[in-house]
Amino acid sequence: MIGERSIAVIGAGMAGLSCARRLAAAGLSPVIFDKGRGVGGRLATRRTFEGLQFDHGAQYVTARKDGFRELLADMRQAGVADVWEDSACSKRFVGTPGMTALAKHLAEGLDVRANVKISNISGSTAGWIVTTGAEKLNFQRVVITAPAQQAAVLLGPTHALAADLEAVEINPCLTLMAAFGSGQPEPFVTRRDPEDPLSWIALNSAKPARPAPPCWVAQAGPKWSAAHLEAAPAVIAQQMLRLLCDRLGTDPTTVRYAVAHRWRYANVAEPLGRPFLRDETGTLYLGGDWCLEARVEAAWTSGVAIAQDMLQGM
Ligand SMILES: Cc1cc2nc3c(=O)[nH]c(=O)nc-3n(C[C@H](O)[C@H](O)[C@H](O)COP(=O)(O)OP(=O)(O)OC[C@H]3O[C@@H](n4cnc5c(N)ncnc54)[C@H](O)[C@@H]3O)c2cc1C
Repeated sequence: MIGERSIAVIGAGMAGLSCARRLAAAGLSPVIFDKGRGVGGRLATRRTFEGLQFDHGAQYVTARKDGFRELLADMRQAGVADVWEDSACSKRFVGTPGMTALAKHLAEGLDVRANVKISNISGSTAGWIVTTGAEKLNFQRVVITAPAQQAAVLLGPTHALAADLEAVEINPCLTLMAAFGSGQPEPFVTRRDPEDPLSWIALNSAKPARPAPPCWVAQAGPKWSAAHLEAAPAVIAQQMLRLLCDRLGTDPTTVRYAVAHRWRYANVAEPLGRPFLRDETGTLYLGGDWCLEARVEAAWTSGVAIAQDMLQGM
């Protein structure tokens, strides 16, 4: 038993962390579980032994709401975010030295338990039983911020909220991280083309505070990603590399790193349409970007809205 006002937050992405931070600011002590090795979820950065670095999830963050704008300003002040000066019209922020820095900053001082996959949650007279591989833990309240399809697995098909979750659609995204030998062309910093199988290409190393070696991130569009989703990662990498070399005018024989990442649940196509779900007991919440739209700010909005609603009910 963890305590009377105990709260489990499942997922240490932007939604889970922003929710937990608000709760902690109100004097509560949420425990955050994530199956990943660290925090961030789709705010993801990969570093290699060769000194290469890639943001293979969210590329940058934009702010439309004052609250999120203020958070980014604070993060900039703290040295974990900066503006990515590019030809784009809207102001793009990136984590420094990588996108995960935004999540790490939010996680400071919170009780985060990484490498813990929650396999089941169930109601009991004492509240909720949260099952990890090894143990069963009791909490008064539970917040699930996993993507809708993964949240649905935790709740089970007969749960009253299952139909809401089922209506949410999230597109996959296959992502290539690539680096080449010196002297290869850099025809652009970013390129977005929804009609191209590679709908987004970015020179990751052009972002502020990144290591010098040129590193490219390419994302396949939703159609191409869905069609190749179950292929072996090495096969995906080879196919995407061929496309990337073509778009950059790069000699494929100069490749020194090419690894693909499969995001099965990447970008929301059909959102819930409201900031969160709450069950009839008022002690189970579900949230994440999938409630609103495919943006980091939407995940933040959802997490904060859950915390506010929960605090009001206490
Ligand atoms: C390739 C790609 C590019 C993107 N580009 C942009 C962009 O440029 N700008 C932008 O604003 N947004 C972008 N997005 C979207 C953005 O990344 C998301 O909107 C945001 O990060 C979602 O945050 P979240 O907290 O809702 O979910 P997540 O970040 O997915 O966090 C959910 C967490 O739950 C954990 N979890 C799931 N199941 C369990 C379980 N059973 N037990 C324990 N933990 C569990 C996961 O490990 C994960 O860490 C992009 C996304 C992708 C994939």
